Amino acid sequence: MSRAFNFSAGPSALPLPVLRKVQEELLNYRGTGTSIIEVSHRSDQFLEIAHRTEQSLRELLAISNDYWVLFMQGGSTLQFALVPLNLSRQGETVEYLCTGEWSSKAIREAARVRRAHVVATATNNIPSPSSWNRAENSRYLHVTSNETISGVQFHEFPSNLDVPLVADMSSDLLTRVVDVSQFGLIYASAQKNIGPSGLTIVIVRKDLCRPLEEGDSEYLNYRAHADTQSMYNTPNTFAWYVAGLVIDWVKKSGGVEEMQRRSVEKASRLYEVIDRSNLYSNTVDPRFRSTMNVTFSIEDETLRQAFLSEAEHANIKHIRGHRMVGGFRASLYNAVEWESVRALIRFMQEFEKERVGK
Ligand SMILES: *Cc1c(COP(=O)(O)O)cnc(C)c1O
Repeated sequence: MSRAFNFSAGPSALPLPVLRKVQEELLNYRGTGTSIIEVSHRSDQFLEIAHRTEQSLRELLAISNDYWVLFMQGGSTLQFALVPLNLSRQGETVEYLCTGEWSSKAIREAARVRRAHVVATATNNIPSPSSWNRAENSRYLHVTSNETISGVQFHEFPSNLDVPLVADMSSDLLTRVVDVSQFGLIYASAQKNIGPSGLTIVIVRKDLCRPLEEGDSEYLNYRAHADTQSMYNTPNTFAWYVAGLVIDWVKKSGGVEEMQRRSVEKASRLYEVIDRSNLYSNTVDPRFRSTMNVTFSIEDETLRQAFLSEAEHANIKHIRGHRMVGGFRASLYNAVEWESVRALIRFMQEFEKERVGK
């Protein structure tokens, strides 16, 4: 069986042992005679998976009982609206730091329902908290922990904020050590490091969540999901099941500490190659370069085309940059093995040697 060196940004690579397990269990889940995707979400088989996945995630990230862990649908994009709706009331102010495309989308959505105040804007770095133009009486401050499109990442989160910190960790949850108690809310759609698309994990401090009030939609209220163990309606059972296997795989592989060690290693080796080269360049402030999405460009248009087609021949897939920014992007999520990164590095070095000589 030949598998590609897959650098897709999302949906993205899953750990091979997880895919094998899914394949092995797909027709007959642990002797039940049915697939796990053919039975009720309220069946004993599925409830066991649901419960165990939540427990494993709580252990992995040391999430206390002050937080709900919700398994939702609608992607992180739905959270762009649900966060302001649940953590603040009409007319109240909420703060956002804008560091790229995903922050912008979150801000756009928040501004439709609340007074969204932007504390600072940047595209290739993270402005220091001391430079932020803060609002008075805001309900929370939202950051995008890793900007998946440009490859800009927080390596240290602001501490001692006077309002709850909310983070979109869609592309780096489970890849690094985080102190959950530092946050009011963390959300992440699954398709980067957690599982298939169609599942979103929300970790939220219970006391911050607004109760259901006259005029509110029940479905859009976190409490409705918390009160029903995320089964207010039919969840994405397949994605939840696979996420459970991925979380177990992370645990067995050494937990988030080990994932962080591997991520730093993979990314720094790739940045080294870019920095030493005369062909590739990365424009992110080195202090905020992402360990997850390494972006780079090639100035010459014909070389760009050749790079992509030769990469394809070398079995290196999905390294085209996001359609909004162009260039190239190698996503180095947890399931992307060192072997893939090594193949990419070799390819990049050889391509440069052949095309520009060095
Ligand atoms: C992928 C991504 C999203 C969007 O997730 P959807 O599941 O498509 O809604 C939001 N924020 C970040 C940082 C992402 O990487």
